[in-house]
Parts: sequence; structure tokens; C-alpha cells
Amino acid sequence: MTPVADLLLIEDDETIGGSLRDSLVADGHQVRWATRAAEALEAARADRYALALLDVGLPDLDGFEVARRLRDLQPACVIVMLTARTDEVDVVVGLEAGADDYLTKPFRLSELRARVRAHLRRGAPAQVGPTLVGALAVDLAARRCRLGEVDVVLRAKEFDLLARLAASAGEAVSRHTLMSEVWDENWYGPTKTLDVHVAALRRRFAEAAAVAAVPEPRITTLRGHGYRLER
Ligand code: CA
Repeated sequence: MTPVADLLLIEDDETIGGSLRDSLVADGHQVRWATRAAEALEAARADRYALALLDVGLPDLDGFEVARRLRDLQPACVIVMLTARTDEVDVVVGLEAGADDYLTKPFRLSELRARVRAHLRRGAPAQVGPTLVGALAVDLAARRCRLGEVDVVLRAKEFDLLARLAASAGEAVSRHTLMSEVWDENWYGPTKTLDVHVAALRRRFAEAAAVAAVPEPRITTLRGHGYRLER
């Protein structure tokens, strides 16, 4: 079953935007299509969206800046950047600006739809209590992470990644498993996304641990394999 949701499509190209919108609407989603950054940010101020598709090349504002502002307005919204740039530096800039995932143009509609489906499925609340790893509590149903008494505010994909690592706390989880389970079922592309998200988690843990006055949760890098969240 395809989960349906309110989506925000930000694309100035009429042809691309139109076909993306039609295809997402055909999947049952409600789609708000903005052709300008200003219009998109106005929509994000007014309504809540589960996922945003964001074209990097917009006429009125740099796409990375749009991602930053969108992220501030809607912390839980999954942001998928649509980029014509294949340069890895740009991908990293995009992820650091707040994007959760990216698709490089040209892409097939079927690929985009599968990616949207995968993101929305993982966003659906699970019926389980919080997973505890030391002072760290990861609550899947509430999509909330606490360290001691302090709330750790995470972006959508950071939370998903932490949830996966916490489910196997104390065990090694391979890069392939993390990429395929947290990002896409059939992932075989670059995995820089993963490292950027792990770095973000470490940063947020360090900040929260300082405030909560509890030991910092540790994510160990396993060279040539993956990561392990220490118990
Ligand atoms: Ca464009």
C-alpha cells in the first residue's frame, strides 16, 4: 500500500513540474506546486507537509537557502532535492543545508515515486515504545529522541538513521544495510549522504550531552563496513 500525504513540489520548470505533479496526484497525494521559492516558503508557513521536492535551480532564491529556510519552518518535513549537478560537493552542501535526500536530473518518474513512497512509509509511526540505549531514548511512535532530560531535535532522516542504529545497538550495521533501509530499498549509489548524517548525529549528541550532563552516546565508525551505536 502506498501511504498518501501532503506534498510540497517546488519546481519552476512548467514541463517537469507538471509531470511530477500529475504523477504524484495519480498516486493519491495532495500536491501543492510552487514555481517560486517565495511561494513555497509562504505555503510552508501556512500548512504542514510530509515531504518537499525541491528543485535546486529556482529563479528567485538559491535552492540551498530554500532548504535551510524550509528546514527551519518544518523540522519534520522530508526534503528531497532535485539537482542537475552531479558534483558531490553540491550534494554535501545540500544535505548540510537540511535536505534529507537528493535525486539527480534526469531521473525516471518511477524512481522518484519509489523514493517518495519509501520516505513516507518510514515516516509512518510504529506501534512500539521507546528504545533505550544508555541515557538515550528513541521513541518511534512519537518520533522523539531524548538524552537524559534533554530533547534532541533531529531532522527526519537523522531520526530514521538513529532509529535503525538503535534497533541494533551494540552491533555493527553495514553501510549497505543503512543505505538500503534508511534511504532506499535498492540503493547502489554514492553513500556520502550516510556519513553526513552520522556527523550530524554526533554533533547533536555532543550538544545535548553537554546540556544534559550525561555521557555522550557514541557512534563508532567501522572502516570498510559501517557503523555501530555503542551500548
Ligand atoms: Ca529549475
